[in-house]
Amino acid sequence: MTKRQEAADRNQAGLERKIWHASLVVGFCVLGFAVALILPAYGVYRQTSRDAADIRYFRQVLDTAILISHERAPANILMSTPPDDQAAARQALQDARHATDQAMARLAAPPLPAGGDAPGDAPGDAPEDATGGVTGDGRARPLPPVALFRRAAARLRSARRDVDHIAALPPGARTTQGVQQAVLGMIAARDAFQDAIVIAIATSAGGSHQLTAYETVGAMIVDLRDYAGRTVSHIIAPVIARQPIPVADLADSDSARGRVLELRRLLLAQRGLFADSAAAPALLDTIQTDYFGSGLALLDRVIAEGRQSGQYTIDARDLTRRYVATMNSIEHLSAVFIDQIARHFEIRRQQALTHLAWISIATCASLLVLGSLLRTIRVSVLRPLLVARAIIIDLAEHGSQAPLPPLGPSHEMHRLSEALSWLRDSLREREERTAVLQREAERDPLTGLWNRRALDRFVRARARGADKRGACLMLVDIDHFKRINDRHGHAAGDEVLRHFAGLLKSWLRADDILVRFGGEEFAILLMTDDLDAATRVAQMLKAAIERTAITLPGTDATLRVSASFGLARGALRNGGWDSLLKDADTQLYRAKEAGRNRISIA
Ligand code: GH3
Ligand code: MG
Ligand code: MG
Repeated sequence: MTKRQEAADRNQAGLERKIWHASLVVGFCVLGFAVALILPAYGVYRQTSRDAADIRYFRQVLDTAILISHERAPANILMSTPPDDQAAARQALQDARHATDQAMARLAAPPLPAGGDAPGDAPGDAPEDATGGVTGDGRARPLPPVALFRRAAARLRSARRDVDHIAALPPGARTTQGVQQAVLGMIAARDAFQDAIVIAIATSAGGSHQLTAYETVGAMIVDLRDYAGRTVSHIIAPVIARQPIPVADLADSDSARGRVLELRRLLLAQRGLFADSAAAPALLDTIQTDYFGSGLALLDRVIAEGRQSGQYTIDARDLTRRYVATMNSIEHLSAVFIDQIARHFEIRRQQALTHLAWISIATCASLLVLGSLLRTIRVSVLRPLLVARAIIIDLAEHGSQAPLPPLGPSHEMHRLSEALSWLRDSLREREERTAVLQREAERDPLTGLWNRRALDRFVRARARGADKRGACLMLVDIDHFKRINDRHGHAAGDEVLRHFAGLLKSWLRADDILVRFGGEEFAILLMTDDLDAATRVAQMLKAAIERTAITLPGTDATLRVSASFGLARGALRNGGWDSLLKDADTQLYRAKEAGRNRISIA
């Protein structure tokens, strides 16, 4: 490998390394940029997922709370029904209790999945070890402490026992105090569960403020439903017993009503939060007419009757049924509102997920585009350029014989290929011209023989070759040639030179080297170190020259010439040529000195 190629290879490696470094830098920039976008998007997605999971959990808590409140009405109805007529009332209460138990079990069943319905709707109390759960996004959620559930469930069981006990008594044996105690037990169970709602809101407090606000309003609606029920529950015992209402019960009912009115004021002040729901405004109006109109009017009527005489114009069962019916719109509002917020947060979660997905896709796409761009640069630009460089180096080193491999299919590479092949063509042209010039420079135009320059080149090549044998050099100079020019003219002299050259050539072998050495002097290099053989060649030539008569062109005149020979033997390598030449020249001089037409041998 030449130094030039080594340098080219080094450059190639350097260039590739630079491109890789640049790609790495750009790749890291893209990744960094992507991470800067993805991390916040992922944070928003996690937050919205938490919010959506929180709202699902909160909904279960509220549903359970409503069911506990709801259980009071069938309980009251059963307690006001004689034992022999209880089948339907008992069934209604059974259904209500079953629904509550299922909801309680769902609440206590960990884990609570983020994306689906709550699992495990088997009826039953909270399991003893239900201390907590895990949301779908992996965050630990402190479920309301199991003690809290147990307390609520225990209160409920105890209240249910009281209700069942009263219901089993004949109507005459159901004391006001007994009924009142059962009713208060049901209310106490609901109060015990209230903590679950508070804890659920507190659990969400780490999420968005909007979520907490929504949950608080949801809890207010459920509270409204509960306290609206209490206003009648507090006075149901005397109504069942058809006795005047004791002052204490009136006070309790009144206090519950005060709470109801307060909640209504607060809810109306939060009307803006219902803006997303189409049904909510109409429901608020219905609550106004149904409950705050008809429901409270019915209650007022019964209270008025209970204050005066205890002679009620409505029995406890009818009162309960009619009163509960006026509260339906409150429960409906609760369902609609919680639906609305669950949808709201689910949409936000999905938007965040879509956003995150788009950013991730855009990042992957950018990296892919970058990768394929680099590949294209490598394959379509860098590699062909390196091939082109190798071709140029090849052209410089090996001339027009260098091969021209294809560079690539692109238009630009095609143009580069054309330029390189044009370069090779003009190189080839120049090489040919140079060869012609070189041939002409080594040829004697008059005789057609090689000249002294050619002889020098031949001797140099020979001296570099493996053949170590010596050679014999013969210098042949026409005698008195000047006179021929003088007597017959220069053209005749030329003709004599041509003729003389032809004569020498005709007597020599193909591997003897004959050159016109200068003027009328010729050199013959015999590739042999046999001086005798060379002498015989000289004698043969001398004789042939003497025998030959040269006819001058355009005349009938002929003339003869003689020549003198200087012969020497020597080596061609290691400077031997110079002394061989000198020796032959010396001998030629001697031949002239000795009278010409003779051979002088070193
Ligand atoms: P000598 O026997 O000592 O060699 O005598 P010479 O006359 O041959 O040698 P000299 O060196 O005195 O003269 C050589 C002449 O050859 C002189 C020159 O004009 C003539 N000459 C040299 N080259 C050419 C040529 O190409 N054509 C012609 N016609 N004459 C040439
Ligand atoms: Mg001469
Ligand atoms: Mg001469």
